[in-house]
Amino acid sequence: MDHCHTSGLISLEQALEKLLAQTAPLIVTETINLTESAGRITATDIISPINVPPFDNSAMDGYAIRLADLNENETLPVAGKALAGTAFQGEWPTDSCIRIMTGAPIPSGADAVVMQEQVEITEIGARFTSPVKQGQNIRTIGEDIPQNSIVLPKGTKLSTTQLPLVAALGITKVDVIRKLKVAIFSTGDELQAIGEPLQTGQIYDTNRFAVRLMLEKLGCEVIDLGALPDSPKTLHNAFAEADKLADLVISSGGVSVGEADYTKQILDEVGKISFWKLAIKPGKPFAFGKLENAWFCGLPGNPVSAVLTFYQLVQPLIAHLSGFTEWKPPMRLNAKSTTPLKKSPGRLDFQRGIAAINQDGELEVRTTGHQGSHIFSSYSLGNCFIVLERERGHVEAGETVQIEFFNHLLKNQ
Ligand code: AMP
Ligand code: MG
Repeated sequence: MDHCHTSGLISLEQALEKLLAQTAPLIVTETINLTESAGRITATDIISPINVPPFDNSAMDGYAIRLADLNENETLPVAGKALAGTAFQGEWPTDSCIRIMTGAPIPSGADAVVMQEQVEITEIGARFTSPVKQGQNIRTIGEDIPQNSIVLPKGTKLSTTQLPLVAALGITKVDVIRKLKVAIFSTGDELQAIGEPLQTGQIYDTNRFAVRLMLEKLGCEVIDLGALPDSPKTLHNAFAEADKLADLVISSGGVSVGEADYTKQILDEVGKISFWKLAIKPGKPFAFGKLENAWFCGLPGNPVSAVLTFYQLVQPLIAHLSGFTEWKPPMRLNAKSTTPLKKSPGRLDFQRGIAAINQDGELEVRTTGHQGSHIFSSYSLGNCFIVLERERGHVEAGETVQIEFFNHLLKNQ
């Protein structure tokens, strides 16, 4: 494709900027049990009510000492014991040491713990021969998390590593943003529901299934309105219903310029929608805007394009709408292409690739093969997008390209 055909297209960056600038995050929050909060997004900063650890304690099984006592003596009698859960009680005479176990509170005045492997027990007591440093083997109060510090900022999606951290602070309830409600439907006279026999000219409705799976991974509440025929009246009613039920409505199909592409016509009647021709491949046609209440995204019908535009545009939009401010776009890495890649200048291309580390420890990538926007198997064969810059042409084997590994929306790893 030459530049005359692509000059009116908007870039992915411009499209993302518009999406984020025109929309605002949900503000409705709810308080839920920490144990039910995995995958939810925090509505407030989580502040630590306590110090972690809550007191100075020993990192080793050994002996607690005062350095001053060691200046005079090499051997110190053992004056008592401190165990995890049971502190040393009573007077600690000068020129003595305390037997201490991992996790036990540090006796007041101690300034180091010597591990038992470095101590020799004699008739008089414990003999210290290794050099001892001030503070060694002492875990100090608040060293992990100081009291009143922000443990997780507002806008964090609660994960496996974060929830135990919050639990360790004694917190049992969290304020989260309510789940985003997303209504979905697909359009096309040719679409047959999964599980029904195919009649002549029909295909299975794979987009609605794919979109639903991705929405579930993003923690949205999905309202499935089914597959709709290419009928202006039905579409009109579906948009009106979806608008009442959801924060965001996502359709697939009917957004290009074919004869049965009614989505555009209806949206002009019911909302304020822009039709974008994106300078990306696959996925040129994409619609975005507002119905009376809900936001709207119209994905292209071709399944590869529908998934790609969802991944690259709807995923960041949903993060934004859900208040997931800590969301990060996929990381791009350099890799050496081991196969030639077909490409014409003009659009940012997201080819599907298979990336791996070679024998020399370098990241390599190869194509999954045919890159047509109807070849859905390219997603299951691949593990990454090969991202080829807009102006780039054919890639020869051996050239460096950028890749983005598929995240949890596309692959379980
Ligand atoms: P459209 O954007 O409606 O012109 O559709 C473009 C192509 O995608 C056509 O080949 C459609 O049959 C196909 N298509 C549209 N919707 C779906 C769907 N939900 N699942 C699978 N293929 C679809
Ligand atoms: Mg169609």
